[in-house]
Amino acid sequence: MMGMSDQPPTVTVVGAGPAGLTAGIYTARAGLDTHICQDESSILNRNAHLENVPGFPAGVNARRFLDLTRQQARRNDCTIREGAVTAVRETEDGFVVETENDTRASEYVVCASWADTDYLAEIDGLETITRGSKEYFDVDSEGFTGVEGLYAAGRIAGEPHQAVVAAGHGAKVGLAVIEHSEVPFYHDWVAPEGYFTDRGRPVPPGCEEIDEAERNRREATTLEHMQEAFETRYPDPPTQHPRVREE
Ligand SMILES: Cc1cc2nc3c(=O)[nH]c(=O)nc-3n(C[C@H](O)[C@H](O)[C@H](O)COP(=O)(O)OP(=O)(O)OC[C@H]3O[C@@H](n4cnc5c(N)ncnc54)[C@H](O)[C@@H]3O)c2cc1C
Repeated sequence: MMGMSDQPPTVTVVGAGPAGLTAGIYTARAGLDTHICQDESSILNRNAHLENVPGFPAGVNARRFLDLTRQQARRNDCTIREGAVTAVRETEDGFVVETENDTRASEYVVCASWADTDYLAEIDGLETITRGSKEYFDVDSEGFTGVEGLYAAGRIAGEPHQAVVAAGHGAKVGLAVIEHSEVPFYHDWVAPEGYFTDRGRPVPPGCEEIDEAERNRREATTLEHMQEAFETRYPDPPTQHPRVREE
């Protein structure tokens, strides 16, 4: 199996929309060395007001939501790399991922690149499905493409065209990568002190127990961060569909 050396397994996520960012947050939090490649911007930038994401009763500016999710990826140790992925090639140990700016070896690749599949032209055995004018990866329930180490998440994997579904699918695919990498893992949970240990159980891998002081410290950081994030209106308007003429 891949990823059995002293170094953490390496993952490259192609695309920094809800699916790719969430997949990366999960793999990085489990200790995998995670890079997220982003070009241009998520299609969610076209949204005028995001009203169906849980946790925002009055909705949220979609560009703010993406900024916050990107910040969350960085805080959880994802490296975000600028520049489109131009090619992914198979090697003996996994893949080489080329962007406009650099090249990186990676044991796992998660494609979350709605609606671009061109960079995978050199991968043999990859199945896609065409529906109308759109092309989707033919994946199993965990986003596995059938090519070892290669996964797809979000809209490009044929999921419904909704931000939370894409994010949830990204999480599911991230968990599949973690499981297949054989990194010790139970769940990504933060539990109160004693939740496991007071029942004579060790804290399972991927989980954390935090005491009251640490819980208060984290909540204070959340308050500070969110107050700052929502202090002012978001400066940029939605981006338009490319075929809508800008005045
Ligand atoms: C006008 C409009 C309004 C919408 N409103 C809502 C709404 O109210 N609620 C809702 O739930 N959903 C809404 N959606 C849908 C939602 O935006 C998508 O379902 C969601 O963004 C899909 O997430 P994703 O991560 O799969 O793809 P995306 O968010 O599109 O992310 C894909 C990312 O991959 C990048 N990428 C592509 N190719 C490459 C490459 N070669 N290298 C590197 N990066 C690459 C793209 O630049 C992009 O950043 C709306 C969509 C539109 C168009």
